[in-house]
Amino acid sequence: GAGFDPERARRDVPILHRTVNGHPLAWLDNGATTQKPRQVIEALAGYYSHSNSNIHRGAHTLAREATELYEGGRATVADFLGASSPEDVVFTRGTTEAINLVARTWGSRNLGPGDEILVSSLEHHSNIVPWQLIAKERRARVVPIPLLADGAIDQDAFADLLSCRTQLVAVSHASNVLGTVPPVREMTALAHRYGAKVLVDGAQAVAHFPVDVQELDVDFYAVSGHKLYAPTGIGALYGKPEALAGMPPWQGGGNMIDQVSFERTTYAAVPHLFEAGTGHISGPVGMKAAIDWLTSFGHEAVAAYETELLGYAQRALAGIDGLEVLGTAPDKIAVLTFTLAGHDPMEIADWLDQDGIAIRAGHHCAQPSLRHYGCTSAARASLALYNTREEVDRLVASLRALRASGG
Ligand code: PMP
Repeated sequence: GAGFDPERARRDVPILHRTVNGHPLAWLDNGATTQKPRQVIEALAGYYSHSNSNIHRGAHTLAREATELYEGGRATVADFLGASSPEDVVFTRGTTEAINLVARTWGSRNLGPGDEILVSSLEHHSNIVPWQLIAKERRARVVPIPLLADGAIDQDAFADLLSCRTQLVAVSHASNVLGTVPPVREMTALAHRYGAKVLVDGAQAVAHFPVDVQELDVDFYAVSGHKLYAPTGIGALYGKPEALAGMPPWQGGGNMIDQVSFERTTYAAVPHLFEAGTGHISGPVGMKAAIDWLTSFGHEAVAAYETELLGYAQRALAGIDGLEVLGTAPDKIAVLTFTLAGHDPMEIADWLDQDGIAIRAGHHCAQPSLRHYGCTSAARASLALYNTREEVDRLVASLRALRASGG
């Protein structure tokens, strides 16, 4: 790694110092959610201890402080994603809500009978189901983009599927099951030639490598705070200004209006138009603290470290008899989804838990990408910046012990 020391990060994350079943916790379930550094925990405590108020209303000091903190979080997220302005960032509950927002608002205005939404086959259900729902309503079609054997998106098939019927391409910047990182910039350039918009699910990307939405030229980009060392319940939707400007209101209520009367209601400007009601005000506070923490290590250095750790884990797991890693595309984040002959994924997760090692077992909310490998369920170790070679060694040793135990 280019000068990144995981021990520095580990010292900041209190939960990594607890034990589970008598062993030090090895948190290898970062794809589900990440653990929080004390900088985030303290920022939340500080907000509630010092500045708690509703925002954008009330002419008092705390309302102004809370508003500044909320909007300061927006500016940090915008900067982190490479947006041109904080106004391009809408706060949501997370990636799921961000995608549903686009499907409901952009989709209701731009999809019609016969239109197509191309959705890659490695998507999380949250980037499939919202499109199915709106497609049904608008009599449009969801068309899957197939995968190659290694878990990469079949780019030839993608090029063939694009047509003047394509209104939107929905693709992940990193798969939560296979780890695949598709060539989003190239796919976006191609989609734009057909006049299609591109929505990128960045839930698994932004914690692991630097992202620049303007450089990618994507129309929408969705993220979840909790996969980025920030709290649950907060996330963001980036939209190109011209894309957001063309979208009708979503939920109605406070904060999203300008003037309300029974004759005529006018609306607040973007991004407030899409933030009806009292939101998760401490969420952006936590997100800012998390982003400041992550970037303090150098995001490039973190990415290089995680890639090196991925290589180490891939080599180590390859030595276990009967173990197959799903997703071997060269461009991937440090996600290791695997099957072990003769062992049910749930049994594997329980066994590892006895050794204090947390992984996930199941369908990972991405059933089509598992089906690609003929599976309905698999075990997944997903790594982050605070994971170490020693933890990978523990994973491998525990899996070997499971093999040796018979079954
Ligand atoms: N997309 C991907 C690739 C994910 O991994 C996840 C979370 N597992 C989501 C979307 C949904 O994120 P959230 O539950 O935070 O809305």
